[in-house]
Amino acid sequence: MYCLGTRQLRDEQVLLRGDDLYLCAPRGQLVEGYLVVAPYRCVGCLAQLPPDCFPELARLLAAVTSFYARAYGIAHPLVYEQGRAGGGRTIDEERGFPLHAHLCSLPLAADLHVPLSAAYQARPLSGPHEIAAVAGREPYVYLDDGQRRAIYVARDPAGRRALEGLRLKPVIAALAGFPERGSWRAYPGDRELAATIEKWRRA
Ligand SMILES: [Zn+2]
Repeated sequence: MYCLGTRQLRDEQVLLRGDDLYLCAPRGQLVEGYLVVAPYRCVGCLAQLPPDCFPELARLLAAVTSFYARAYGIAHPLVYEQGRAGGGRTIDEERGFPLHAHLCSLPLAADLHVPLSAAYQARPLSGPHEIAAVAGREPYVYLDDGQRRAIYVARDPAGRRALEGLRLKPVIAALAGFPERGSWRAYPGDRELAATIEKWRRA
């Protein structure tokens, strides 16, 4: 859905357009304020993004953080990327859609480090620009909860397969106390989407 050419996103869902990346409010609003930064170019994950795109990524993320502080009073958003394409996979095995890099953010406190560190190996890093160097050629999850940044990679081949098929939204929804919102098909969150776009415009 993050390939803009597929027209899955309505124009009003694209909140900011940079040179290489854009910020959007997708469907599947787990909570109001679910935002995503993605490249125009079709790359599978942030580990494959050209290095010169990262300053713009940081600027878009700063806009998100300041929006969350003003609109929701949240100082430490949850920012994550599922680097499912990190090991070279290009399509989602279960549903067949192309994997497209997108950095997700939620104005929500949920200790996602706990389940991830139980299942995968944590590697610290200072920000998204280090993902490629730290993940190597592995599928990964990047997580920044405002307190701690880490990449999670597999400990073994089974973990690697799990990371390539992982869906974090159900995990986050369960941690946040509303497991029924874990899938955008089950919970599109269209009311929250309209509210997010409206608040962004006013901010
Ligand atoms: Zn794409």
